[in-house]
Amino acid sequence: MRTALPEPLRPLEELILNLRWSWHHETRDLFRSVDPALWDAVGHDPVRLLGEVAPERLERLAGDRRFLRRLDDLAEELREYLTAPRWYQSLGASADSGGPARAIAYFSPEYGITAALPQYSGGLGILAGDHLKSASDLGVPIIAVGLLYRHGYFAQSLSRDGRQLERYPPIDPDGLPLTLLRETDGAPVRVTIGLPQGRRLHAQVWLARVGRVPQLLLDSDVDDNDRAARDVTDRLYGGGGDHRLLQEMLLGIGGVRAIRAYCRITGHPAPEVFHTNEGHAGFLGLERIRELVAEQGLTFDEALEAVRAGTVFTTHTPVSAGIDRFPRELVERHFGGDAENRDVPLERVLDLGAETYPDGDPAVFNMAVMGMRLAQRVNGVSRLHGLVSREMFGGLWGGFDTADVPVGAITNGVHAETWVAREILDLVAREAPSVVEAGKGWERLRHLPDLELWRVRRALRGRLVAEARRRLRASWRSRGAGEAETAWIDEALDPDVLTIGFARRVPSYKRLTLMLRDPERLRALLLHPERPVQIVIAGKAHPADEGGKRLIQEMVRFADGEDVRHRIVFLPDYDMALGRLLVQGCDVWMNNPLRPLEACGTSGMKAALNGGLNLSIRDGWWDEWYDGRNGWAIPSADGLDEPDRRDALEAAALYDLIEDQVAVLFYDRDPSGLPRRWMEMVKHTLAALGPKVLASRMLRDYVTELYTPAAAASRAMRADGYAGARELAAWKQRVAKAWPGVAVKRVEADAAEGPHVGGRLSVRAVVELAGLDPADVAVEAVYGRVDESDTLLDPSSVELAPAEPDDDGRACYVGEVPLRRSGAFGYSVRVVPRHRLLAHRAEMGLIALPPEPNRVPNGALR
Ligand SMILES: *Cc1c(COP(=O)(O)O)cnc(C)c1O
Repeated sequence: MRTALPEPLRPLEELILNLRWSWHHETRDLFRSVDPALWDAVGHDPVRLLGEVAPERLERLAGDRRFLRRLDDLAEELREYLTAPRWYQSLGASADSGGPARAIAYFSPEYGITAALPQYSGGLGILAGDHLKSASDLGVPIIAVGLLYRHGYFAQSLSRDGRQLERYPPIDPDGLPLTLLRETDGAPVRVTIGLPQGRRLHAQVWLARVGRVPQLLLDSDVDDNDRAARDVTDRLYGGGGDHRLLQEMLLGIGGVRAIRAYCRITGHPAPEVFHTNEGHAGFLGLERIRELVAEQGLTFDEALEAVRAGTVFTTHTPVSAGIDRFPRELVERHFGGDAENRDVPLERVLDLGAETYPDGDPAVFNMAVMGMRLAQRVNGVSRLHGLVSREMFGGLWGGFDTADVPVGAITNGVHAETWVAREILDLVAREAPSVVEAGKGWERLRHLPDLELWRVRRALRGRLVAEARRRLRASWRSRGAGEAETAWIDEALDPDVLTIGFARRVPSYKRLTLMLRDPERLRALLLHPERPVQIVIAGKAHPADEGGKRLIQEMVRFADGEDVRHRIVFLPDYDMALGRLLVQGCDVWMNNPLRPLEACGTSGMKAALNGGLNLSIRDGWWDEWYDGRNGWAIPSADGLDEPDRRDALEAAALYDLIEDQVAVLFYDRDPSGLPRRWMEMVKHTLAALGPKVLASRMLRDYVTELYTPAAAASRAMRADGYAGARELAAWKQRVAKAWPGVAVKRVEADAAEGPHVGGRLSVRAVVELAGLDPADVAVEAVYGRVDESDTLLDPSSVELAPAEPDDDGRACYVGEVPLRRSGAFGYSVRVVPRHRLLAHRAEMGLIALPPEPNRVPNGALR
């Protein structure tokens, strides 16, 4: 580290350089004991702590036997954590696929690891941070890649009249727990990418350690760059399209090169799977194609197959502002002309990002669309979001029904040790040891003693109130208030009043100000004589989002009102530290997005794990796991096309719920003062929701559903000198060429004893294969209920078997369809490409259907 430590204290360096301290309470305790007051003053940042602590204090600790013993124990514990086999190491290698991935590269434009590293703006980054921490805990061999932003994301404060002010305090990498990645000869690694007109963009690579996970952060602020190039990694989500494109080229292309350097230097196995967290890093696929063309002599198409097989793409938002769409001409400039690489032709690049679906814009290059074309496996981040994504991106898969669009879903989770209050973790550990690690045994939490749990909840609320007052005072002072004007803050908020939290970024769909819809009703809730509520609010608007900033101002102005300011507060500078305080201290976590625009949402999960109850529109994860006993669902008027009426309806429902249900339940006390029914809901939330919302559950899902299959697919492509990739590319070309001629010529059906429920329907299809081999296709009967227009609802499918050709020599397929239900029943036949290396029948977007669907003869079944 930068401070010369007395020899006995050297293990402190080891502890600080691994970000595991950000979620390891015992290590943080040790840091605190170095100098408790300073620890608070430096915002719990151990690097700053050691930079500022008095040398005499260090000398004294160097002779403190108890401190040294704790230090050595913790250093030993860390070494053990970093090397002992964990869950992933227990996964068996299955004979045919070669077992789980040896290494996985994870790309994200932002990471929320700790408030001391402000390299995130919101949910996407927080999720990435939790993903890495859980991967570390489970031993999943991830290498993470990102950018190091010299000014991070902005720090927020307020002007006198409540407008958001932004500051970009520079970070100093030497003052962070990072080391420079160096060649074996000691020279810093340089990653370089080519730009138009012979310019080059260079970056150095910082290495952070997130437990077992190495994290590579590219930083363009190096001497060999010109001024403009040095600024490429200046800010997260700053600047216009050009700047963004350069950042994303550095992240994707430079990121792959950084990984190659890291593996070369350290001997780390090369990643078999590349996971891109949203589309920003999508160029990583182009770089891997380039490598394969240049180094393995593959064609572009063969390389594309090899790359796709080992790529996982996670889409995170149905909101178009959340998706990077560049002017096509900008991409032309950076991947064409003198910047073109002949192994990655411009036309192919442009095709990958083209919006070739009905509402697509031909002038746009869409990073999410490219992400989906470059990945054989795609997922959304909650069940509902998976559905919405299948609808939104279905056009990329041609004539398939929404249900068949190959976009799955893995619901997000949160990292318990990061977000859950220590008091709760201790209580949980006592009642049900190791539930957090194992993800099992949560039912035992139904037996937590009410009194104890309530005391902890009261203490957490009290801590929130105290800290909120401190922050409120600081905010009022920075807004120009004098000492006398802040006296009321001593009484602001109340540790015994029902506390509702609302904290998130401020894009319009999250509707920060829905609660202000009827200010009089809100005022009445806040000032209720017996059952008052208090609301703690936080959130940042993107600096370019004037609308969002106006909402913040509206909120702040209301909260400034003398009659309500002790019951509703806006705390500036929402970050991980404030987030943790809020999700731990609030009784109720409120969320009122415009359904279905919240892809998942994770802050409510953090609240739930702390014993908070959710009060939310049924969107994202809450749509999936709200069960009537773990919180409240705000009725949504989605589908209503008048935004204003919709807001009015949903706001009214929200007020009613708070007044008639939430507050009533919270203040319903037994003779000993305990809210028994409330505590039932809290315990039910912990027991039933706890194991679901864990990031460790999410990681296991990623490993089993995506990483391991992708590793197997990637190996199948690579084996025997990329024989699989060559075969698949050639086959796809042949099938795509023949496909316009493929057709279902005739479908015949026959029910032996007339159609009846429980009977069977024999189906025979005559198919024109246009020169394809019968083994190149799957012919399936699709069947189920139909609506009035004969559209199949929720269809099932069964594969038909090849039979004797018909008299004209055309291919025939036969099979049986079960008639399980009464009512209108229909069936159809579809032909889709089939190959052992395809991950999904819809993968190529090719399908052949008969001109009309069929109804069962005689219409309704009885
Ligand atoms: C958890 C968290 C988020 C994401 O929460 P959402 O519910 O998805 O809005 C954003 N910012 C911070 C600081 C967080 O802790």
